[in-house]
Amino acid sequence: MLIVQKYTFAQTTNDGRYWNCSKKLSNKCPAKLRFDSSGRLVHYELKHNHLPPQFYRDSCGKYVKL
Ligand SMILES: [Zn+2]
Repeated sequence: MLIVQKYTFAQTTNDGRYWNCSKKLSNKCPAKLRFDSSGRLVHYELKHNHLPPQFYRDSCGKYVKL
């Protein structure tokens, strides 16, 4: 799992290149991250249609790994 701006993302492929918001299925959230084969962020969409998961609300951002 990745945490970006207090939102959680779930890996969708085994190679770690494609990540979707953890709320994609339940909320149809369009947010996503895409990395190239060397691990660089090459595309992202961070417009969520919901609030961040409540259990990360007190985070100071240390979980962000971009
Ligand atoms: Zn989302």
